[in-house]
Amino acid sequence: MPSCPECENNLDIEEEDLEEGDVVACEECGSEYEVVGVDPLELTKVDADYDEEEDDFTEEAEEEE
Ligand SMILES: [Zn+2]
Repeated sequence: MPSCPECENNLDIEEEDLEEGDVVACEECGSEYEVVGVDPLELTKVDADYDEEEDDFTEEAEEEE
């Protein structure tokens, strides 16, 4: 059974049941993870507070002398 990367709680899911694009939530810490790969299992954290600051920063960085 996969475990939560944040708190190492066992996620109550079966790897075999997962498909790419599925979102799983950790009951322990409330983090959500999207399945980005199943072989091997790869989870990426879904950040609810995600904003686009990094994109803005990239655009401004284009202004060079
Ligand atoms: Zn967790």
